[in-house]
Amino acid sequence: MRSLVEVVDAATIARRVAELGAAITADYQDKEPVLLGILNGAVPFLADLSRHVPPEAEIDFLSLTRFGEEGRVNISVDSATSIAGRHVIVVEDIVDTGLTLSYLHGLLATRRPASLATATLIDKVTRRIVDVDLRYRGFEVGDEFLLGYGLDWNGRYRNLPSLWAVLDLATFQDDPDSLARQVFAGAG
Ligand code: 5GP
Repeated sequence: MRSLVEVVDAATIARRVAELGAAITADYQDKEPVLLGILNGAVPFLADLSRHVPPEAEIDFLSLTRFGEEGRVNISVDSATSIAGRHVIVVEDIVDTGLTLSYLHGLLATRRPASLATATLIDKVTRRIVDVDLRYRGFEVGDEFLLGYGLDWNGRYRNLPSLWAVLDLATFQDDPDSLARQVFAGAG
């Protein structure tokens, strides 16, 4: 049995991202939203999504640091854009327990945006601990660990063009590089 399996291919991701962009375009007519990407994982998703929304949309990023045991977060590198009075769409790679997003929404809400919505490529809905409103969701998945299209393993593999699930974590941990070579060789 392979320890790594492709769960969403690049063409399927591209189609779904285009659909999410069309939905955002319809919802934000005349609103000039700010797409606020959460570094580093949201980079590929935001780049692709941004090409399916009107050119007036602004793009910015911020970085989070986690601390404590309850998944609390701080903004470690802030965005340059002032979001007061703006229509903000937080762009996330994946929402798991929902803790990160829920703390982030709390922080951003103090800056008085005109509205705050979230677009996430992946929703691990069965793992949710806190309820978060995900207006735009690409794919619902189970609780397997995913890699690729922004999602990392110790900082690597974010540049895979599709999404992969790690089926056997122990084997993968023993030799992540050989498995990554399989991926790049198209072995699936
Ligand atoms: P949450 O606060 O919703 O539990 O966590 C979200 C964060 O957990 C994501 O931004 C991501 O960093 C990490 N995460 C959750 N599930 C996965 C996964 O399947 N793969 C990877 N690479 N990171 C994940």
